[in-house]
Amino acid sequence: MGKRANPMAVKAALSYEIGEAARMLDKSPATIRNWVKDGLPIMAQRRPYLISGAAIRDYLRTKYANSKSQLAFNELLCMACRQGRKPFNMEVERIPNNAKTYRLKGTCGHCGASAARIISIDRAPEFAQTFRFKKGGDSDAY
Ligand SMILES: [Zn+2]
Repeated sequence: MGKRANPMAVKAALSYEIGEAARMLDKSPATIRNWVKDGLPIMAQRRPYLISGAAIRDYLRTKYANSKSQLAFNELLCMACRQGRKPFNMEVERIPNNAKTYRLKGTCGHCGASAARIISIDRAPEFAQTFRFKKGGDSDAY
């Protein structure tokens, strides 16, 4: 584990190739690729792969906040409270994030701001017992 990258080192409105992102964040390209495997979304339609600065900021904030305060199994990370909170009605949207992860998005039951966490697809059935997944168009069952 090296030092933490500063999410503000990238501009939210710009997109970066992996090498550029690595340079901006003072990390190796391998680290950025690991982040992608871990859930950092890339704009997959394009080559070379581009990552939006907003996605990088979002990913890093969630990552570091998750490691700071381990989320309980029934919590999302609220961006306003900056800690784990149960989502309102335990309802979350399950949004495909990349090949291995989903992003769960809900409303903080404490303050009403948006709250999210990234989970691995393998663990989705487990989380489905805790959260109520709102249908997001497709209705695949477990
Ligand atoms: Zn909150």
